[in-house]
Amino acid sequence: LPQRYIGNDKSVWVEYIQLALEHKPLNLGQGFPDFPPPDYITEALKTVCTSDNVLLHQYTRGFGHPRLVTALAQMYSQLIGKKIDPQTEILVTAGAYGALYSSILGHIEEGDEAIIIEPYFDCYEPMVRTAGGVPKFIPLRLKKSSGPISSGDWVLDPTELQNMFNAKTKLIIVNTPHNPLGKVFTKQELEMIADLCKKWNVLCISDEVYEWIVYKPYEHIRIATLPGMWERTITIGSAGKTFSVTGWKTGWAYGPANLIRNLQVVHQNSVYTCTTPIQEAIALGFEKEFPRLGQTDCYFVSLPKELEPKRNYMADFLREVGMNPTVPEGGYFMVADWTPLASKVDLNSEKDQYKDYRFTKWMTKNVGLQGIPVSAFYSDAHKHIAEDFVRYCFIKKDDNLKKACNILTKWK
Ligand code: PMP
Ligand code: GLN
Repeated sequence: LPQRYIGNDKSVWVEYIQLALEHKPLNLGQGFPDFPPPDYITEALKTVCTSDNVLLHQYTRGFGHPRLVTALAQMYSQLIGKKIDPQTEILVTAGAYGALYSSILGHIEEGDEAIIIEPYFDCYEPMVRTAGGVPKFIPLRLKKSSGPISSGDWVLDPTELQNMFNAKTKLIIVNTPHNPLGKVFTKQELEMIADLCKKWNVLCISDEVYEWIVYKPYEHIRIATLPGMWERTITIGSAGKTFSVTGWKTGWAYGPANLIRNLQVVHQNSVYTCTTPIQEAIALGFEKEFPRLGQTDCYFVSLPKELEPKRNYMADFLREVGMNPTVPEGGYFMVADWTPLASKVDLNSEKDQYKDYRFTKWMTKNVGLQGIPVSAFYSDAHKHIAEDFVRYCFIKKDDNLKKACNILTKWK
């Protein structure tokens, strides 16, 4: 393995997806819906596949299929309040992963510092390291010691954040709504980050893949809309999350042309172009949703409404069995403290260094329920902070959530 990958060879997803295949637990691990996507999106793909336009089965434009970048530009121009150029200000990639990869590899020079907020979607760290960058971690801290916890109770310390920035800081990665906590950053929190980015001339990579999955009364704010931030922000989205089709693995990045240009160079020298029929179908999806954005029949409005009772149901049964959940303001994950149940678990039968890995593996094998260990979302030096936590996914059929509830209730 090349030196730059050493230390980056372990992946919680590779390990836990294999574990699920072997033990067939009720899977609340990797995040994906177990119910069908909206009809119109699968119909769109059907239409594309049977279309007379046979070129829809061939290569399309490398930086994004014309119909899709046009649809994305139309929607985000409205949401950002600024005309976005589909040719130069958007890049379509292989999932949001591809957009993160091109953003990070396209902007980090050897030795540049990248600020990463813990916990974080795990791939940020290896991407920064393999680009030659130096990740600098700042934790969200739980500021509440008793009573029900909301993801809003996890906060950055303003002074600690200020102290992260210096002349070597190249970029900060922000993720709102947040995976795994479900935190929806407030305007005030985003302004604090934005002010530091402007002060230190730092780039902001804003991972907004859960932009539509926000629960009332919270509101998703795009950091690119704050004054002086469009110029220094690359925003990332995912069709997988937007239309509940994670297997379509299509994402995008948008931002000013001078920043997106670097991503295009990485992309044209790695993936070059993404699947044509899927991009065409996603374009049809956006064309359907754009005229009804914000209305009750819009999928981006109905999906969080559908998920909210699932969230509440999961929070209730986790509380019921004695786990202390952080109720998310957005996204479809819930983090919970499993340690009140520690006496029920044979932690010694697993060999992993961190207790949350041992807990989740033991549960998968012996109780038939899979979650993700939250220390996977922390840097090595801080993994111990997260050992008490497990992450469960709740974008699941009510039936399966009920099964999860029964499994836990019977076991505890
Ligand atoms: N960012 C975050 C915060 C995620 O949770 C995920 C997982 N889907 C991704 C990026 C990657 O998304 P995609 O599946 O579109 O590559
Ligand atoms: N974003 C999803 C999750 O956090 C999927 C992760 C993945 O596919 N690597 O579970």
